[in-house]
Amino acid sequence: MTNIKEIYREVHEKKIDLIWLQFTDMLGFPKLVEISSKMLPKAIEDGVAFDGSSIEGFARIEESDMLLKLNPETFSILPWTMRNDIKIAKIVCDVYLDEDTPFDGDPRFRLKKVLKEGEEKGYFMQNGVEEEFFLFKLKDGSPSTELVSMGSYFEMLPEDIGEKTRALIAKNLEEMGFEIEASHHEVSPSQHEIDFKYADPISTADRIITFKIAAKTIALMNGLYATFMPKPIYGVNGSGAHTNISIIDKNGKNLFFDTSKEFGLSDIARYFIGGIFKHIDAITAIANPTVNSYKRIVPGFEAPVYVSWAVKNRSALIRVPQADEKTKRIEFRSPDPTSNPYLLFAVVFKAGLDGIENKIEPGDAANDINIFEENLRYPGKFKTLPSTLKEAIEALKKDEVIKDALGKIITEKYIEAKEREWDEYRTSVTDWEIKNILPQY
Ligand code: GLN
Ligand code: MG
Ligand code: MG
Ligand code: MG
Repeated sequence: MTNIKEIYREVHEKKIDLIWLQFTDMLGFPKLVEISSKMLPKAIEDGVAFDGSSIEGFARIEESDMLLKLNPETFSILPWTMRNDIKIAKIVCDVYLDEDTPFDGDPRFRLKKVLKEGEEKGYFMQNGVEEEFFLFKLKDGSPSTELVSMGSYFEMLPEDIGEKTRALIAKNLEEMGFEIEASHHEVSPSQHEIDFKYADPISTADRIITFKIAAKTIALMNGLYATFMPKPIYGVNGSGAHTNISIIDKNGKNLFFDTSKEFGLSDIARYFIGGIFKHIDAITAIANPTVNSYKRIVPGFEAPVYVSWAVKNRSALIRVPQADEKTKRIEFRSPDPTSNPYLLFAVVFKAGLDGIENKIEPGDAANDINIFEENLRYPGKFKTLPSTLKEAIEALKKDEVIKDALGKIITEKYIEAKEREWDEYRTSVTDWEIKNILPQY
């Protein structure tokens, strides 16, 4: 909704009490500052001051006064609150240090900056994401890994509380103006997927954050816990956030489509893939940001392990779906839903631009072969993704192109936070050790 008068009318007519000002910290956790709807005109006019000192990756204590600037076009009512005593709408914000200075550590700002770089060269990214997640039971009010459904891929019957909850999430999102391409049960028990129609990366990232808020809230309302943890259960598929990408020019022409080339894929698209491959180790630090992420990207669970691309092969890191001129795209399959979508899109676009600019070839497509078996036969034929968070972070430290996309503040704080996570994890004693080592020694 872009017309400000219309927004005020909606707020008045629908009796909206509160406005949530949505932004994210460096790790992509949704942050909300709540204002009374009576304050909305002033907030749109002047922004809203807040204290950034306790937000991960944000200000140091001495410069903690920050400003949220509202983007009225992102206004939408949160439909699930409309039957409540307190009715809420949200607006997505940019983080500023003062009236004129955007905060360089705001992930949304970083994405805008990289998008602008591409746009100056005539490349406009579009993306749509397939968000996978589990719905588990809440036990005594706390998250658990107890299953709510035994269904599997595309299974609809018997209708259970999991199905109902996913349908409610999708319905609420649609009421907010999201275009949901599909929503279905996934392969693992209690696992679900919601697919977003492609849009510009800022809108897609904004929507992913709103979606996460909606999914968690609506699950809670149904006594469930929605989790984006990449691998919550050993031995079954984890959750990915496959990212579909295309590049258009300023007139909307799809630059990935070229019938004169192999697989209908243009040189630009191939170089874009080459760029992602070149920077994949550092990208992985952003696409797979938690220690748990690396338990998903192992052989045997439809998640990629090897750096490869293919038209017909779901074990590839990048898949090129059969598509027409309008929808020709690449599907980048390693990202998981713990990634911060703003940073993810920024580093992927940056890597792709490097590929286009330097004509980086991705090598042959791995069609119709079993990449896992091929790699057993010819060890080293395919490079593997980093196998730990530590490896990915070490690669990030060395990748100037990716660090440039993240900017100085985020690069520094991100590496610091993730090294801390790795170290805590590395020195923890796990259930596995207690179960397997304690009884033996
Ligand atoms: N859940 C798988 C993953 O981790 C993907 C399964 C699928 O969408 N076919 O990426
Ligand atoms: Mg899918
Ligand atoms: Mg899926
Ligand atoms: Mg997919």
